[in-house]
Amino acid sequence: MKTKPWGQLFLERNGIRNTQARRAILEVMGQNPGHLSTEEVYRKVNERYPHIGLTTVYRTLNILSRIGVVGRFNFGEGKARYELIDGPNGPPHHHHLVCSRCGSIHDYTDFVEEELELMHKTERALSDRYDFRINKHILHFYGLCGECSETSE
Ligand SMILES: [Zn+2]
Ligand SMILES: [Zn+2]
Ligand SMILES: [Zn+2]
Repeated sequence: MKTKPWGQLFLERNGIRNTQARRAILEVMGQNPGHLSTEEVYRKVNERYPHIGLTTVYRTLNILSRIGVVGRFNFGEGKARYELIDGPNGPPHHHHLVCSRCGSIHDYTDFVEEELELMHKTERALSDRYDFRINKHILHFYGLCGECSETSE
């Protein structure tokens, strides 16, 4: 018996029709970590699947972010950026430090000790209060990076 690729299983588990474009985008995003714009995802997809158009990529990214397999971020550049946030091919769980001046995005996984505790506590309390089962979160901190805060003085 052939095991199905992870992307296909994820789509089926979420009751989402398993189309080639959806599988292709999950595959390409798994191989190109980072925070990709729609155009960047499109260019990567296009190298391998030239018949998948930009409109399809745009629509598919919307669907994938709605089911929570892809994170959709707005880092203040006026365009969305996407990153895989679930599955074995995604980056490890991380938080973001976003510089609102130069737009640099720092991913970090070396959480400060209190941070994990606070997140767990917050999730538990929210689940109780709103009767909502939380299975993931995305966290961004905005501010100025070291370089930008130096030049702003
Ligand atoms: Zn976290
Ligand atoms: Zn900066
Ligand atoms: Zn990230």
